[in-house]
Amino acid sequence: MSDRIPFFKHDLGQPELDLLAEVFGGEILTTGDYVRRFEAAFSDYLGAAHTVAVTSCTGALHLSLLGLGLGPGDEVITTPMTFVATAMAILQAGARPVFVDVEPDTGNLDAGLVEAAITDRTRAIMPVHLFGLMCDMKALREIADRHDLKIVEDAAHCIEGSRDGVRPGALSEAACFSFYATKNMTSGEGGAAVTNDAGLAADMRLARLHGMTKTAADRAAEGYSHWDVPAFGWKYNMSNIEAALLLPQFERLERKAAQRQALAARYRDELTGVNGVQLQAEPPGCRHAHHLFPVWVHGIERDAMIGIFREQGVGVVVNYRAVHLTEYFARTFGYKPGDFPEAEKLGDRAISLPFYPGMPDSHVSEVSGIIRNAVD
Ligand SMILES: *Cc1c(COP(=O)(O)O)cnc(C)c1O
Repeated sequence: MSDRIPFFKHDLGQPELDLLAEVFGGEILTTGDYVRRFEAAFSDYLGAAHTVAVTSCTGALHLSLLGLGLGPGDEVITTPMTFVATAMAILQAGARPVFVDVEPDTGNLDAGLVEAAITDRTRAIMPVHLFGLMCDMKALREIADRHDLKIVEDAAHCIEGSRDGVRPGALSEAACFSFYATKNMTSGEGGAAVTNDAGLAADMRLARLHGMTKTAADRAAEGYSHWDVPAFGWKYNMSNIEAALLLPQFERLERKAAQRQALAARYRDELTGVNGVQLQAEPPGCRHAHHLFPVWVHGIERDAMIGIFREQGVGVVVNYRAVHLTEYFARTFGYKPGDFPEAEKLGDRAISLPFYPGMPDSHVSEVSGIIRNAVD
């Protein structure tokens, strides 16, 4: 039952197939030269010193926290208006996520509320650039510096974004990205951390493969020599297969960003000023990466709106219902409705509309018309 108006279509094609064929013809399917080339290109794109390519953004967040020395007893301030991976990565590192409510107009972590949540156990802040709109990183950096905290950005939505000239990774210890199936760059599954800290990058590189000093590619290139395990590690290394899918995408990333921008502008033309429909505010100085195009519906129950879309064959999803009210977090940490009212309001009202480069303009008009009729 595919949708008449799909939510998302990937654009992988011949360039990716060609590079994949090259990898198939070579010796190394796992981490090797293609991964190194991808890391160099990603660092270059973001203007960052180091990229560590891994199997997911969740893994990148986890390794970043471990690399910064976080663990049991530590608290990390983050947002409940995010994908559950953000909070899960904090738990995986052994630390505790401490939620802070969001700005009602952007859905981003409210920097003005962060200081009140800082305790003597707080070690880091993990902001999420929701839908591709960057958080106020200058404000967060100031707070972090005042309290001697680290910042790890969940930039899964924000490869192309910036705010006041600041890009992900510029004002933090590390920024983490996802190449999951629907993200702006994709290899189906994949992720990366960028950092300007050479020591942190080296630690993450070790920890992404069992703490081993040599990869299979090193052994193939140099002939067998013994490797050691100087550190504890995990199994998060990206393979040449994913890197081959990612490398050709740099060439069209900026063109696609322009297409996303144009689609978002079209949706905004159709929906701005419609009673009962709230769009994400865009503070001045932002280059929005437009990973998703969300609306928050007030003129109709959200689930009723989803029902109408389903009847009409329009693919939509919800990004996101507030994380603190999911069963595990509510049960484990005792969160309850009312704890983070702005995140809850947005979480009860959110619908992500069909949105991908190459989406026909007629679909934008049709989807917008369906909302306008429904909230009328
Ligand atoms: C997709 C996503 C992640 C997780 O990415 P994976 O690569 O699937 O681990 C983390 N945070 C946010 C905000 C995401 O959208």
